[in-house]
Amino acid sequence: MTNSPRTEFDAIVIGSGPNGLAAAITLQQAGKSVLIIEGDEHIGGGLRSAELTLPGFVHDVCSAIHPLAIGSPFFSTLPLEAHGLEYLYPDLAAAHPFDDGSAAVLYHSVAQTAAGLGADEQAYLKLFNPVVRDWPYIAPDVLGPLGFPKYPFKLASFGLKALPSAITVAKRFKTDAARGLWAGMAAHSIQPLSNLSTAAIALVLMTAGHIKGWPIPAGGSKEIANAMASYFLSMGGKIETGHYVKSLDELPPSKAVLFDVTPKQLLKIAGHRFSSIYKWQLERYRYGMGVFKVDWALDGPIPFTAEEARRSGTVHIGNTLEEIAHSEQQTANGKMVDNPFVLLAQQSLFDPSRAPEGKHTAWAYCHVPNGSEQDRTEAIEKQVERFAPGFRERILARHTMNTKEMEAYNPNYIGGDINGGIIDLGQLFTRPALRSSPYRTSAKGLYICSSSTPPGGGVHGMCGHHAAIRVLKDIFNQSLPSL
Ligand SMILES: Cc1cc2nc3c(=O)[nH]c(=O)nc-3n(C[C@H](O)[C@H](O)[C@H](O)COP(=O)(O)OP(=O)(O)OC[C@H]3O[C@@H](n4cnc5c(N)ncnc54)[C@H](O)[C@@H]3O)c2cc1C
Repeated sequence: MTNSPRTEFDAIVIGSGPNGLAAAITLQQAGKSVLIIEGDEHIGGGLRSAELTLPGFVHDVCSAIHPLAIGSPFFSTLPLEAHGLEYLYPDLAAAHPFDDGSAAVLYHSVAQTAAGLGADEQAYLKLFNPVVRDWPYIAPDVLGPLGFPKYPFKLASFGLKALPSAITVAKRFKTDAARGLWAGMAAHSIQPLSNLSTAAIALVLMTAGHIKGWPIPAGGSKEIANAMASYFLSMGGKIETGHYVKSLDELPPSKAVLFDVTPKQLLKIAGHRFSSIYKWQLERYRYGMGVFKVDWALDGPIPFTAEEARRSGTVHIGNTLEEIAHSEQQTANGKMVDNPFVLLAQQSLFDPSRAPEGKHTAWAYCHVPNGSEQDRTEAIEKQVERFAPGFRERILARHTMNTKEMEAYNPNYIGGDINGGIIDLGQLFTRPALRSSPYRTSAKGLYICSSSTPPGGGVHGMCGHHAAIRVLKDIFNQSLPSL
């Protein structure tokens, strides 16, 4: 990426995470001249991969598993394969091992997943068949700002299942297998499972798995960002890296500026331009739990007792619903637990480019109180060892990041919060503030396009795409056909 000349642009996007890139692409596709300014030397934000441990071992620094990217209505319109992106599909999307050596599994097929849940087969079919059937119709509304939906009855039926807490919806199931599988999915919400709307993330992730799978990008998650940037540049877009924007005065002239940052940073950069009420709203924006992350270089695959876990891209380590719910609740209360819920990915099983022949990588994190600097390596490794005896003997090297290091790596991870702010009911549709459009700030020409806007965290680009649509309407009087 070269430094761009300080000419005038139609729009400037600050930050090149998936949402910044999506916003920039949408605007450039609409014929606008766009400059992306990225603070880091490398583009991608949450989409970067690096040799964190040993030479030849490629680790995903942040995002690893991409059901939301492959299922994104916006990404599906982009020619990313032509720009070098290849998705690889693990045999099994996700496995959830239990202490007795068994595992529940999220398969591509709803029927196969249900069949593995024994007495809960019918309950699973009843919950998921309608959502999977309706998903193509409701996805653009679920993954966008509040508005009048295209299919109100289908969306209402989804809402009845998505808005309760994960614990409430789990009452549909009797078996530990179904309840544990469901709880592991809902724990991606990074909140206590008793919170309203924690069922939504489980429904979305599992439905995405049933429709398109949980793929990993060949070569690392950085390849999604590289393909997006390559497409953007091919349309004439410009990217400048290595420039953390601190003030609006540093920017070349433009008609609109879109920020791929969270409210805390936005206030620092542009707070003086906002109305007092908007400033007040942003100051009250809430961040959620942080993460503690470990990457390993291994001299063999993880020896999970459950055969299904040895064939899955993702493994949820937390045993029963009760154990996972306890872990998330205690962490939200600011406490550490001995057996944290661990999300683990084993990319090199499916992508040989991630490690030297015969060797492997693994990626894992657990939730911790926001801002905690405690080292959770021992707790995470103990959890993996519990379901994969002999795991520790395979570790060649490890790399860890606490919440402070996370935030130093990417200033969007405030206190280690990887979702750009908690995604609870109060901040689900109205993030970062209750306004007619969440993407518009109170200052003319300034917009926010990060995961701090609807639909929130994850690699899907929908926040950026919707913010760009807002800019096109407001500033350029231009409308795009809906996705
Ligand atoms: C450990 C971890 C695991 C994750 N796992 C997954 C997963 O498996 N699947 C999934 O879908 N999602 C996952 N995520 C979440 C996902 O990565 C984020 O939700 C997503 O990247 C948010 O995109 P964004 O564009 O809003 O922000 P970001 O990706 O955070 O990008 C923001 C960009 O803005 C830049 N920036 C910030 N401030 C400035 C400034 N002042 N000037 C210039 N540039 C600036 C940053 O350097 C960064 O490049 C994970 C995240 C983490 C950290």
